[in-house]
Amino acid sequence: MSSRSELVARDLRAVWHPFTQHAQWPADDPLVIDRGSGVYLYDTDGRRYLDGVSSLWVTVHGHGEPAINDAIRAQLDRLEHSTFLGLTHEPGIRLAEELLRVAPAGLSRVFFAGDGSSAAEAAIKMAYQAALQRGRDRPLYLHVAEGYHGDTLGAVSLGGVELFHATYRPLLIETRIVGSPGVLGVGQTRAERANEVLAEMRAVLSREGERVCAVVVEPMVQAAGGMLTHDASFLVGVRALCDESGAAMLVDEVATGVGATGTWFGVDHAGVVPDLMVVGKRLTGGALPLSAVLARESVYDAFLGTPLSGRTFFHGHTYTANPLSCAAALANLALMHERGTVARAGVVGERLGAALASAAAYDGVAEIRRLGTMTGIEVHPVGQRTGFEVCRAARRRGVLIRPLGDVVVLMPPLGISDSELDELARVVDASIREVVQ
Ligand code: PMP
Repeated sequence: MSSRSELVARDLRAVWHPFTQHAQWPADDPLVIDRGSGVYLYDTDGRRYLDGVSSLWVTVHGHGEPAINDAIRAQLDRLEHSTFLGLTHEPGIRLAEELLRVAPAGLSRVFFAGDGSSAAEAAIKMAYQAALQRGRDRPLYLHVAEGYHGDTLGAVSLGGVELFHATYRPLLIETRIVGSPGVLGVGQTRAERANEVLAEMRAVLSREGERVCAVVVEPMVQAAGGMLTHDASFLVGVRALCDESGAAMLVDEVATGVGATGTWFGVDHAGVVPDLMVVGKRLTGGALPLSAVLARESVYDAFLGTPLSGRTFFHGHTYTANPLSCAAALANLALMHERGTVARAGVVGERLGAALASAAAYDGVAEIRRLGTMTGIEVHPVGQRTGFEVCRAARRRGVLIRPLGDVVVLMPPLGISDSELDELARVVDASIREVVQ
């Protein structure tokens, strides 16, 4: 096998990495990951790292989970791929059924895609086309600051993270944006902030509601915006505003869904049923890409008509519902039921919160936000790569985490053990103390 230094040199000659400033990256001493087992990743020098962000929020039970790998192998021997455009297959059918079993009652149709962004894109188009085919042209979307739905242009249009999205503004579809329910005024409670943003939304909808096809939110946690948590009453309020105005409630559960917050989906904290729900990330347990849009029957019905009516949803990707991905997802969901992974994620979150509690008092820590396993530690001074430095200190101690600006993000695999979780918390605490105390 090639040495790490040789692989890095070849990488630097040939590869362009996502969300990576290549003028800086060589100096940041790139790691080359060789293999994974359980919650650990191993680099080409054989060093072991605890995967503290579950490989960008996807690993559920652990790396190399045998039941998922076996399911992929078995599927591989039967059918590796066949299009879902006008054909079907059993893994796709079974997965749709399984997803509807755990989704909020009222969602009844599953449309598969590949990545979170591609599912978000499908849902965005569905909301517009459904309204149009019910006789109303509603070309506007209402969304919130600090939102993130992926990097394709429709998803970017509904985003609100300046650093990622501002550049592309001239290219985007028209939207109306209100404040983030997770960015609090001084002394304000989350419930008060929820009411304030709902009032802003109500004002927009009373002026232009007839033209708004969907209100788009990440439920409970705005993840890429910096793990900003909000009150469940916000989602109840959004549902009511959608009912009043006729806009669809479109929730993006790519980060929150499939267990991360200690419930199957973020909306379960509020007991709210959306019209469209986007899922991705952990669906396959972290093994393969797969995402989906779950829709209410009323949305689906708006697309029915004769083949020549033009009411078809003319949208789909080549590898949509890839059977290997579906087989992995079925194995993952079965394991989650068997192991009680969703409830366990709630327990993991509480233990992590308790283990990090003392860090909240450190001078360099502005706030610790958490729901279930989704955790953000805001560190300062801001704008000086402080978040990066904390993550680098953690890497020296054998833990891989990734910052979002000055928010140090932790999102361990849901199946992490108590002792592994304590190791994660201990290293993060020590790394914060090293950098900002
Ligand atoms: N929506 C949310 C809420 C996300 O957090 C992400 C990814 N972090 C996406 C959409 C995009 O998913 P993907 O990167 O798989 O396209």
